[in-house]
Amino acid sequence: MIDLSRLTYYIETFGCQMNENDSERIAGVLEAAGARRAPSAEASGLAVINTCAVRGKSEEKLYSLLGRLRAMKARRGTLIAVAGCVAQLHREDLGAKRPFIDVIVGPDNYHRLPELVAAAGGGAPQVSTGRTRGWREADRGPAVHPSPVSAYVTIMEGCDNFCAYCVVPFTRGREKFRPLPAVMAEVEALARAGAREIQLLGQNVNAYRDPESGTGFAVLLDRVAAVAGPGWIRFITSHPRSFGPEIPAAMARSRSVCRQLHLPLQSGSTPVLERMKRGYAREDYLAKIRILREAMPEIQLSTDIIVGFPGETEDEFRETLSALAEIRFANIFSFRYSPRPGTAAARAEDDVPFEVKRRRLSEVQAFQNTIQAELHRTLVGRTIRVLGTGHSRRDAAVYSGRSEGRQVVNFSASGDPVGRFVRVRITGSGPYSLRGEAVALEDGPAPSVDSCP
Ligand code: SAM
Ligand code: SF4
Repeated sequence: MIDLSRLTYYIETFGCQMNENDSERIAGVLEAAGARRAPSAEASGLAVINTCAVRGKSEEKLYSLLGRLRAMKARRGTLIAVAGCVAQLHREDLGAKRPFIDVIVGPDNYHRLPELVAAAGGGAPQVSTGRTRGWREADRGPAVHPSPVSAYVTIMEGCDNFCAYCVVPFTRGREKFRPLPAVMAEVEALARAGAREIQLLGQNVNAYRDPESGTGFAVLLDRVAAVAGPGWIRFITSHPRSFGPEIPAAMARSRSVCRQLHLPLQSGSTPVLERMKRGYAREDYLAKIRILREAMPEIQLSTDIIVGFPGETEDEFRETLSALAEIRFANIFSFRYSPRPGTAAARAEDDVPFEVKRRRLSEVQAFQNTIQAELHRTLVGRTIRVLGTGHSRRDAAVYSGRSEGRQVVNFSASGDPVGRFVRVRITGSGPYSLRGEAVALEDGPAPSVDSCP
C-alpha cells in the first residue's frame, strides 16, 4: 500500500475554469490525506493530469504528456493518475492501451483518490468512473484555493443541452446543482479570508436551481452580491437559450457584479445554430445583447466561436463575421470544429476541409483583432479600475492585472499592487492588452494564502 503521508503530488491541468477548480479540489483531497504539493512533475511521487476532452487537440496534449511521464516513471517510479473528462470518456480503453497509468478517475470520483492512490502501483490501473445523480456536497472535500485574491466557486456541474458538437454532457454527465446554503457558505468563507474577486462556475450557470427551494440563478446572484467584501463577482458560462431578462436585471442591481459577460454565440448563422442544436436564432442572441447593453451600457462582452461546423457554407461563415462586426465583442475564443466521439455532429460528415477551417479561423481572428485594437484605443487616456494579479510575462518590472471587463492591463506602479484594486491610467494599447501607470492603490495589502478557507 502507498502511504499518502509520505507522498508528494503535482497536478497538470488542461481545459476550462471548471477543470482548474476541480484541480483545487483534487489538491484538497490529497492534502487532507497527508500528501504534499511538489513544485514539478519531476519532483513528485504522483503526477496527476486533469484532462479536457472538448476538442481533439486537447486530448492529443494528454497523450504527448503521457509519453514523457512514462519515461519519468521508468526512471523515478512516479505514479501516474489521469483525471477528468478524458478519463471519463475513454475509461474502457485508456488503461488497456496504456497500462503504465496507475489511476483513472472521472469527475464524480475525486473523493476516492486517496484510496485509489493507496492501492496503486500493483499492475492494473485503479479505475473509478462511476456516475452520481444529484449533488453530493459531502463528497466534494475541501478545495485548496491557490489564490486568496480571486477564487472560483462551483455552483453546478454537467449539462443537459446536448449541443450537436459537444462532448461535455457525456463526460460531465447531466446537470447537478449545488445547494444554495453550501454556495453561500463557501462565498462567505472566501469573503472573510479577504477574496477580492469571486467567480461562480458551471457549464450552464443560468440553469441553476437550488435543489431544495428551486431558487434560480438571478436570486443566487443577488445573494452572492450582497456578501460584503469581494469587490468583483463574475460568473461563467451562460447559455443564450436560458439567459432570461431577470439576469441582466440582477447584474445591473449590484455594483459588485462585473459589467462583463461571456455569452457563447458559436455561429452568426441561424441555420448553423439550428444544426448545432443551440436553441436560439441569430436575432434572439442579438436581442439579448440589446437588453444587456440597455441595462449596463458599459458592459464588455466575450464569446466562443466555432468555424467549419459540418455543412457550414461560405455565406454562413460570413454571417459569423457580420455578427462580430455588429456586436463588437471585447474578446472571443475561436475554434476549428473538431468531431467528438458520441456527439450528434460526429455522425454527420466532417465535410469542411481542414484548409478551409484554418482559413476561416484566421479570418475570424484577424477581424476580431482589428475590433479589439479599436476598442482598446478608446480607453487610452482614461483611468480604470484594475485587479493586480502578478508580474507581466515579458518584463518582471511591469505588473499585470485585469480590468472589470477582463482586459489584460500591464502597468507600472510604485507600491505592490498584486492582489489589490488599483486605479490605472491607460497610456497605450494593442489588440490583446492595455498599458498604463498606477495612479492609486485602492485598498489594503493583499490577503495571504494562509487566510484561504
Ligand atoms: N458550456 C459552454 C457553452 O455553452 O458554450 C462552454 C462549453 S465548452 C467547454 C467551451 C467551448 O468549446 C464551446 O463554447 C465551444 O465553442 C467549444 N467547443 C466545444 N465542442 C467543440 C468541438 N467539438 N469543436 C470545436 N469547438 C468546440
Ligand atoms: Fe457543451 Fe452546449 Fe452544454 Fe455548453 S451548453 S457544455 S456547448 S452541450
